[in-house]
Amino acid sequence: MLSVKQLNAGYGKFQILFDVNIEAPPNAITTLLGPNGSGKSTLLKTIFGLTSVYSGEVWYNGTNITKLPPHERAKLGLAYLPQVGSTFNELTVEENLKMAAYTLPPEEYRERLEEVFSMFPILREFRKRRAGSLSGGQRQMLAIAMALMRKAKFIMLDEPTAMLAPKVAYEIAETIVELKRRGITVLLAEQNALLALEIADKAYLLVSGRVVFEGKPKELLENPELGKMYLGLSS
Ligand code: ADP
Ligand code: MG
Repeated sequence: MLSVKQLNAGYGKFQILFDVNIEAPPNAITTLLGPNGSGKSTLLKTIFGLTSVYSGEVWYNGTNITKLPPHERAKLGLAYLPQVGSTFNELTVEENLKMAAYTLPPEEYRERLEEVFSMFPILREFRKRRAGSLSGGQRQMLAIAMALMRKAKFIMLDEPTAMLAPKVAYEIAETIVELKRRGITVLLAEQNALLALEIADKAYLLVSGRVVFEGKPKELLENPELGKMYLGLSS
């Protein structure tokens, strides 16, 4: 579904990513782990077209999207949820969902709205509340719901469980599994390695802008050096 090939990218003249190769298979959760500053966010931004690519390619569903602007990528079904600021906090929940779906004809808008409300009953209940008044977990759900309103097929989430209480983080993890059940492909950057490895089908470990591990979550959990050194996992 998505492949990053031999990518070198960064910000202006500051190269952050070096020879990165990533494959996110369809209908699966791929997680991107690594210590702070290793380039996880930069990689997601690059896939969405927000950084400078020096060489290498990004392919999505058989199309080379390396040079497409972000809005064209969004049209193809890619969504990128940054760590903060994916919602309009001054607007109500329903207004946020409306904003996300402004290109949809009214009938389709209502259909989609029903779908996201059935997935997130709490958003239906709070539809008249300002997004800024929601809890962190609820705002994260709203951001995911907005991506669904836009009919995203490939969703990149940047540390969606950061700063959340463990129970809420778990709910977000369950939501991510539900996305997969609904046929959406997920690329998940996480600091919370244990939680991510629990739900992921495939894992990458990024260190200083380079991929140092690619494989099954179980292999990473069972690799004492990598797990301990970079992810704070005890063996
Ligand atoms: P991670 O998400 O893994 O914590 P980032 O991708 O945010 O890592 O950061 C990787 C490196 O890129 C860091 O050294 C960071 O300082 C640098 N960086 C991030 N954003 C910018 C920017 N807009 N301009 C220049 N350097 C940046
Ligand atoms: Mg980051």
